[in-house]
Amino acid sequence: MMALEDAWRCVHCGLCLTACPMREAWPPYGEVGTPRGKVSMVQGYLMGVFGRDPNLEEEFWYRCSLCERCHQFCPLHLRISGMVLGMRQRLLEDGRVPQVARRALMSLHRYGNPWHQPPESRGEWARGLPLKVSGDGNGAEVLLYVGCFGSYDPRGQKMARALAEVLLASGVEFSILGPEELCCGREAYSLGEKGLLEWLRERNLEIFSRYRVRKVVTLSPHCYDAFRNLYPPFAEVEHYSVVLAKLMREGRLPLKGSQGEKVVYHDPCHLGRRNAIYDEPRQVLRAMGFKLLELPHSRQMAFCCESGGGKMWLPSPGVPMGPKKILQEAETLGADAVVTSCPFCVAALEAASGSLEILDLAELVKRVWDQR
Ligand code: SF4
Ligand code: SF4
Repeated sequence: MMALEDAWRCVHCGLCLTACPMREAWPPYGEVGTPRGKVSMVQGYLMGVFGRDPNLEEEFWYRCSLCERCHQFCPLHLRISGMVLGMRQRLLEDGRVPQVARRALMSLHRYGNPWHQPPESRGEWARGLPLKVSGDGNGAEVLLYVGCFGSYDPRGQKMARALAEVLLASGVEFSILGPEELCCGREAYSLGEKGLLEWLRERNLEIFSRYRVRKVVTLSPHCYDAFRNLYPPFAEVEHYSVVLAKLMREGRLPLKGSQGEKVVYHDPCHLGRRNAIYDEPRQVLRAMGFKLLELPHSRQMAFCCESGGGKMWLPSPGVPMGPKKILQEAETLGADAVVTSCPFCVAALEAASGSLEILDLAELVKRVWDQR
C-alpha cells in the first residue's frame, strides 16, 4: 500500500482525469470525484483542512472501487487506490466506521460472512453434488474455495455449482470446506478493516493447516487476490480460470462445442490489473471454438464493474457507469454474450444488461460440456 505522503508527488498533470468509472457519479463536486481530486483530498487531509464535513468525507472515501484503472494513466505510477485504502484505515482507526458498512462488518465478526447467514448453511450451494467435505474426514489436498458470494448468493451459487461440476467431470480430486469455510477477508480489508482481515486470516490458516491443504482453487478473483497478496505463502493458490486452461491443455477437458458464437471477455479488475491474469480465460474460450472479440477497453484498460473495493456491500449512490460502458461496447461489436470470471462482475453486468447474456466462464464451460 502506498503512503498517504505520496500524494505530494502528484504533479496535477490531469492524465488520470477521465480514468475513473465513478467520476460521473459526483456531478455536484466536479473534479473532486476524479482520481486527481482524490489525491488533492489526501493532501487536504494531511494539511488538516479536510474533515470539516465528516458526512461528505465518510461517503467520499467509499465511492472508489479500488479498481486501479487510474494507475494505468499516471506517469508517476501513483497508486491512488492505496491512498484511498489508507484513508479508510485512518477513519476506522479513529472509530469512524462508515454507517453503510457497519452491518456487513459486524456480520463478518459474528458469522464469518457479510450477510448475517448461518455458517451451517454455507455448504448448501453444493447440495446433491457428490463432493468431498474436508470436515467429514475425506478431504483432498486440493481445496475448492467458493467464497461468500458463491456460498450464499443465488446467482453466485449457480457459478459455484457449475465450477464444481466441471472439476468433477475432468477428474480433479478436490474437496470443499462446507460449513467450515469462512470469508477470506479481502473485502473487509478493502473497507479499511485491517484487524478483521487479520482475524479471518488467522482462522483460515488454522483451518487450511488442519486439513493439510496443499492447493486452493478460488471461484472469485477477490479471494484469489486475498490468498495471494494478503496472506503469507501457505499453499499453491490458483484462480479457477487458470486451472481450466491447464486442464484443457492436458486434454482432460476436451471441449469443442461452440459453432463459432461471438463472445467478449470482460477482465475483472482483481484478476487482470491486480494479478495479471489475462490470457488463460481467453485460452479457454478459444479452445472451445468461440469467436473471441476484444472490447476496445480490455486487459489493463478494462472498465470496472464497480462492485469491488467493498462496494458490493454498500448501497449504490446511482446507476453504475462501468457496466453500462462494457455492455455498450459488447453490443457495438455484435457479441452474443459477455463472459467474465468473477461473481461480482457477473452480478453487476447482469443487473445492467437488457437482452445480452452474461455468463461466468465456468458456466459456459459447463454448458458446452453438457452439450458435447
Ligand atoms: S481506483 Fe478506480 S475507482 Fe478508485 S479512483 Fe482510481 S479509477 Fe477511480
Ligand atoms: S496522473 Fe498522476 S500525477 Fe497526474 S494528476 Fe493524476 S495522480 Fe497526479
